[in-house]
Amino acid sequence: MDAIIISIGTELTTGQCLDTNASWLAEQLSDHGARILRHVTVTDNVDHIATCFREAMKEADMVIATGGLGPTPDDLTREALAIALDKPLETDQAALRQLEAFFARLERSMPPANVCQAMRPQGCEILPNPRGTAPGISHSSSSGHFFILPGVPSEMRAMFQQSIEPLIAQLATGARTARSRLLVFGISEAKLGELLSDLMNPGRSPSVGTSAADGVISVRIVARGESESDARRLLAADVDEVRSRLGDSVFGEGEDTLADAVGSMLLEQGLTVATAESCTGGLIAKHLTDVPGSSGYFIEGFVLYHNSAKTDRLGIPREIINQKGAVSEPVARAMAESCRGISGCDFSISTTGIAGPDGGHPPDKPVGLVYVGLAWEAQTEVRRLLLGDHLTRDEVRDRACKTALNMLRLRLIESQGRP
Ligand code: AMP
Ligand code: MG
Repeated sequence: MDAIIISIGTELTTGQCLDTNASWLAEQLSDHGARILRHVTVTDNVDHIATCFREAMKEADMVIATGGLGPTPDDLTREALAIALDKPLETDQAALRQLEAFFARLERSMPPANVCQAMRPQGCEILPNPRGTAPGISHSSSSGHFFILPGVPSEMRAMFQQSIEPLIAQLATGARTARSRLLVFGISEAKLGELLSDLMNPGRSPSVGTSAADGVISVRIVARGESESDARRLLAADVDEVRSRLGDSVFGEGEDTLADAVGSMLLEQGLTVATAESCTGGLIAKHLTDVPGSSGYFIEGFVLYHNSAKTDRLGIPREIINQKGAVSEPVARAMAESCRGISGCDFSISTTGIAGPDGGHPPDKPVGLVYVGLAWEAQTEVRRLLLGDHLTRDEVRDRACKTALNMLRLRLIESQGRP
């Protein structure tokens, strides 16, 4: 099956918005064995879009276009498809009722501009939008399949998975691809390269590659096989191999976060956590509560930014702060222990550090110095991080937060229910 992907929008051609839809769709289609002939990006110009549509329909068995289905005057994809097919636009009554129901659920009256979203060229079908107002459009003929999906990535993905993927799974033939992304924290990319070097040899199949972003390293594994089960079998063998080489530094797969990993272990083991944050300003609590169901283990979080708050709220002795400084091992230790006592939690996490760009006093207190504390029944562990003054304030806070979550994760793996 040959496919063409068309991305529509002036925000894409002018570089104001990155075309993530095309890469996501290309991955999905290749996984199903489709051959991608081309990616096309086109401005919001009805004639240009119609020309692209005509050309793509001639060449490919499947065309998927995204964008330009909104209610504003620059959304011209419907009109362009009508021109390309030489059919009039007409209102789809079922789609109109669904749009009206969407607004009724929000107790809002439907703006007149949205009525056009229920229109489709004669002979086309409407694809329901599980995530928003813009329905998609599909057209099938003896020469192939044509789909138009909304530009908003979350709506596009949901519609693809609901309406298009089942059809593609039937149509596609040939080699299948299966892929996985393992997420790693706490070891360097160089060390990881050493551990996986033979698997990463160019030309090896399955292919194994790494990339790093925001302190997290992704290990991407792509396997190709004669059939889907073949590809999955090859993939599973490599995933097992990589996991066994990297051990506990693998915290998840796909879109998992460190907070997801921590959350599921806390739930499983019936344990609770509280936070006492200075330099991370509540970021750890935010990450923990980003996870649905986190009330099952996250009890409370304190942000103790000023020295007086550390003393007045947590009872950190003023003398320790005066003698050692607020950014110090004993303060991180006392914050974690005091927070654990006040909250009654099994674990408590603390941070104190210099996020920068100002406020550093090298050599002993440079920007990027962070102490992270983790207290549990038996012990309090404090790690001293020297993150470096090349990182931005946001990056220092982000790395400190992830390190803290990872310390808790490793402790949970070790404790296996015995904190
Ligand atoms: P539209 O459906 O054209 O009105 O698109 C709505 C919004 O979705 C745009 O303003 C972009 O923020 C986003 N969007 C549209 N096309 C893409 C694309 N190909 N990749 C990523 N985001 C997109
Ligand atoms: Mg647009």
